[in-house]
Amino acid sequence: MKSVAIIGAGITGLTAAFYLKRQGIPVVVYDAAGRAGGVIQSVRRDGFLAECGPNTLLETSPKIAQLIRDAGLASRRLDTDPKAEARYVVRGRRPVAMPASQLGIFTSQLLSARAKFALVREPFVPARRDGVEESIAEFVTRRLNREFLERMVDALVAGIYAGDPARLSVQHAFPRLKALEDKHGSLIRGQIAGARERKKTREVARDRAPKLSFDEGLEVLPTTLAAHLGDSLKLNTPVGALIVRRGGGWHVITPEGQVGHDVVIDCGSADKLKELKIEAPASIDTREFGEVRHPPVASVVLGFRREDVAHPCAGFGMLIPRIEGFNILGTIFSSSLFPNRAPAGHCLLTSYAGGERSPELASLPTKELVKLVIGDLRELLGIRAEPVFQNVTLYPRAIPQYNVGYGKFKTLLDAIEAKAPALFFAGHYREGVSLGDSIVSGVNISERVGKLLA
Ligand SMILES: Cc1cc2nc3c(=O)[nH]c(=O)nc-3n(C[C@H](O)[C@H](O)[C@H](O)COP(=O)(O)OP(=O)(O)OC[C@H]3O[C@@H](n4cnc5c(N)ncnc54)[C@H](O)[C@@H]3O)c2cc1C
Repeated sequence: MKSVAIIGAGITGLTAAFYLKRQGIPVVVYDAAGRAGGVIQSVRRDGFLAECGPNTLLETSPKIAQLIRDAGLASRRLDTDPKAEARYVVRGRRPVAMPASQLGIFTSQLLSARAKFALVREPFVPARRDGVEESIAEFVTRRLNREFLERMVDALVAGIYAGDPARLSVQHAFPRLKALEDKHGSLIRGQIAGARERKKTREVARDRAPKLSFDEGLEVLPTTLAAHLGDSLKLNTPVGALIVRRGGGWHVITPEGQVGHDVVIDCGSADKLKELKIEAPASIDTREFGEVRHPPVASVVLGFRREDVAHPCAGFGMLIPRIEGFNILGTIFSSSLFPNRAPAGHCLLTSYAGGERSPELASLPTKELVKLVIGDLRELLGIRAEPVFQNVTLYPRAIPQYNVGYGKFKTLLDAIEAKAPALFFAGHYREGVSLGDSIVSGVNISERVGKLLA
């Protein structure tokens, strides 16, 4: 029976392994860490439930709900409270509610009259068709205006990538946005057409997608998938090299020795790829992978007595553009999103610091970092007392930045897959950085490899 080795027990690797096993294909998952789940980590302590990494899973594809059902987790799934949809963007050093409808932007205080006029003019701005790769900053300034960039897109980019809009590639980091211009000549016209197309494909727009988690946090999903693997999950087992095997397949080299597999799927991370030695008949130089930026991010989860927070914190959370001059990138109102995140009479807030905007903040000593975060929350949300709960997690290399030029990295992946048969790459460094993208990537690679081995 042919076997598959998967490098990485994050959500991508676990999803791929789960579905390959269901096809009756033997799988072994190797992870350098001592636990499964990758960046997903939920901590229950003192009645609070802190999400150290991702907070919500956006259900952008039917494949996500299918995985939840197949893993037997439908009854443990929690959807966000529809009342908790309100999002805030900070303007004038206070959180301002984002309009509930797209037309509401015209009456909102978030943008000046000039920016609103840029929106009206957008369908008449000619599409750029010279093939030059732009940053999201260049793209937004060209199609809308600088205020849109500084007030809205900068905040959004901090929330998704912890990235720098002047570096992130519109083509790779926001492919749907670029596709709207390419296909429809305008973002607004494209949005209208896109809504019709999504009806046909059953895909859901990101801003409309259901947001979900589980009763004991997102980690329920990887923990459940890992349990299905039993002793085919090898933790504390970094894969250092892959050596092509005579007759097909690979020797997977770990500190424990070498094991033969017919197919290898890398679901690790872009920065670890540069350390992976791939010895195949044609030489493969993985050092080029080292160029992908991964700024550090710290998540600071703080619990307060409800009466010590002036703001109602009802809603999803607030995003903060750089121009406002705060330390944090944004805050999620965690206890408003899902039940049972904080004891009665308390609220739980998850803030992020670092990213491309201020990488030095992420690795500050915990006490200093918490003090800075509380300072920001005091001004923005009216915090009146010290937290009664705290949980700080540093991700030294958090999210790969799909910056201008990322195409070179993706081309390298394609070239290696072409040169090295039975070696595949999947996950957040290839097919989108969100949890949902990673799940879909895991499902798709399991189908591709399943077909190959059939
Ligand atoms: C702080 C933070 C907040 C986020 N918030 C959200 C959010 O709210 N919503 C959302 O949709 N997304 C969010 N994301 C993004 C999302 O969580 C990730 O993109 C997704 O979980 C990535 O899953 P993955 O399996 O591809 O990679 P990872 O989770 O990074 O897992 C990769 C695994 O591979 C292992 N590995 C790597 N190389 C090797 C090797 N050579 N040998 C053995 N093991 C190896 C690593 O140890 C790791 O366990 C967030 C990310 C971070 C960091």
